[in-house]
Amino acid sequence: MPIKNQKAVIVGAGFTGLSAAYYLSKNNPDLEIVIVEKEGQAGGLAGGFKLKNWTWSLDYFYHHLFTSDKDVLELLNRLGLADMVKFKLPKTSLFIKQKKIKFDSPQDVITYPFLNFFNKLYLGSGLAFLKLWPFGLKLEAYTTAKFLPKIIGQPAYQQIFAPLLKSKFDRYAGRVNLAWFWARIKSRSRQLGYPQGGFAHLASRLVDKLQNQIKVEFQFHTKVTSIASHDQTFELKTDKGKTKADIIVLTSPPETWQNYNLLTKNYYQSFIKDKSYLSAQTLILRLNKRFFDDKTYWLNINQTEYPFLIVAEHTNFIAKKYYNNQHLVYIGNYLPLDHKYLNYEPTQLLKEFWPYLTKISPGLKKHHLIDCHLFQARFGQPVMPVGYSKEIPPLKVGSSNLYIANMLQVYPYDRGINYAVKLGRRLARFITNDRKIV
Ligand SMILES: Cc1cc2nc3c(=O)[nH]c(=O)nc-3n(C[C@H](O)[C@H](O)[C@H](O)COP(=O)(O)OP(=O)(O)OC[C@H]3O[C@@H](n4cnc5c(N)ncnc54)[C@H](O)[C@@H]3O)c2cc1C
Repeated sequence: MPIKNQKAVIVGAGFTGLSAAYYLSKNNPDLEIVIVEKEGQAGGLAGGFKLKNWTWSLDYFYHHLFTSDKDVLELLNRLGLADMVKFKLPKTSLFIKQKKIKFDSPQDVITYPFLNFFNKLYLGSGLAFLKLWPFGLKLEAYTTAKFLPKIIGQPAYQQIFAPLLKSKFDRYAGRVNLAWFWARIKSRSRQLGYPQGGFAHLASRLVDKLQNQIKVEFQFHTKVTSIASHDQTFELKTDKGKTKADIIVLTSPPETWQNYNLLTKNYYQSFIKDKSYLSAQTLILRLNKRFFDDKTYWLNINQTEYPFLIVAEHTNFIAKKYYNNQHLVYIGNYLPLDHKYLNYEPTQLLKEFWPYLTKISPGLKKHHLIDCHLFQARFGQPVMPVGYSKEIPPLKVGSSNLYIANMLQVYPYDRGINYAVKLGRRLARFITNDRKIV
């Protein structure tokens, strides 16, 4: 039965919050929905910025969609925005033994230079097996580090995936379960999608549609600081004032929940405190010259002595004409919360990275650099250990009409816009069916 004469407040205008608003309102046309967002724009982790003379915005963190991202494409289709996303086949490579090796197709496994024929066959058939295997969750009983070598062979594992796991998960690398790895192989396509204008622009178009077609109210530049409950209703305190709600959906990251109220604090203590996650960091270089002359978009760094995990030249994926003909390069990292780089200034980090960057792109000189920009998100990459399906935090907080939705709940899939949208839809259905509020 649809919810009537009630007000839902969604905290956070990332893709989970936007999707939850859309599907909540579809299921409950009479429900009043307000989204409260601390920033001045929607998009959250998939938000971005636009510099002078740029016509498109650039994501704070590199983002793209996969052709298998059906849930976000369905939402965009419903709102008449699907045409904004264009798919392309950019070049992905590995940096290994000081060489850039293209690695984004079955042919690339065949031509891979550092394994013998037998080991390449082992690798190729192992990856094909994972792609076809339908029961991914069964693999959560094993760690990737122990079991993946059995599927693709020890030499391929040691060369290709062990260094990437180490750089991505640092001290937690040995804990990551195989279901998480399976989901990445299963769901990712070679073709990558990007919305015209950038992901921040896509999010702002979604805001327009939700405001105008569905009458969702947005309060930007409004930070929720605490939540008080009175019987069946809530009062949210923000830095702009107070607002009442019958239903609350929190999509803000876990560190914020401890401040809201006792319920969310207890939820944090019960379901989040012992979970591990890493911060995401990107240093974005603006250059007046191409970084990868061979038009590589994405380079995974397989040499663990390098102080970063990926280099992605955005303007080898999306035309530089949208960015005043400048060349834009992400240097990406995932870092434990106590890592020293999280306290560095952009120029300090660049100084640390520069010797390695010039090894990857020998033609790079100081005068090619226009400037650099640093972004980081504390809650950037959760670690999914063995048996994680039994530890997924619930959608509902206690017995109240308070709900929590975020990337810890999209397992076995990795965080992603598609899974944020899918979670928003699942949550909307869950809330609508939740007997307490009908
Ligand atoms: C480095 C990196 C690369 C990624 N690459 C991809 C990719 O290529 N493709 C892909 O699909 N996904 C990618 N993702 C994942 C994707 O960005 C996330 O899964 C998705 O954006 C999560 O959306 P969300 O709404 O759940 O959370 P968020 O985006 O974190 O949204 C939460 C919102 O809450 C707001 N908020 C926080 N505190 C408060 C408060 N107190 N009051 C009010 N508002 C508040 C925040 O400002 C934010 O807007 C990447 C993520 C990272 C970190």
